[in-house]
Amino acid sequence: MAETRTGTCFCGAVKIEVRGAPAEMGYCHCHSCRQYSGAPVSAFILWKAENVRVIRGSDLIGRFNKTGMSERQSCRACGGHLMTHHPLLGLTDVRPPVLSTLPFKPTVHLNYSEAVLPIRDGLPKLKDFPAATGGSGALMAEYFA
Ligand SMILES: [Zn+2]
Ligand SMILES: [Zn+2]
Repeated sequence: MAETRTGTCFCGAVKIEVRGAPAEMGYCHCHSCRQYSGAPVSAFILWKAENVRVIRGSDLIGRFNKTGMSERQSCRACGGHLMTHHPLLGLTDVRPPVLSTLPFKPTVHLNYSEAVLPIRDGLPKLKDFPAATGGSGALMAEYFA
């Protein structure tokens, strides 16, 4: 039996369950993530899509898909972010604060070329996305003016 964890949205009406180990944890600095989240950087925990399921409040989930690449899901009762499904990758990003019992251990920064908040943590700073997911895979310096 794989380990499972649960977590909820801000108000608690929507409950998510994840199974097994995440595929990747990190930060995204792209304009879309910043504009959507209202924060200078956003954080993600990626899971294989089949390892994420909604166990309460699925009727309350609002969905928004601007580009076809990412279906962003939030709770319609409280507005809290839940997850973003990436159908072309078969991955689902569950917002780290939803899974409050899972230690957040980021390993990478994505879209650092769009960053407005430099983060000097020594982790790799990718210009856009990893080559394996269609990006350039190029690295950037973490310092900028
Ligand atoms: Zn809620
Ligand atoms: Zn992003």
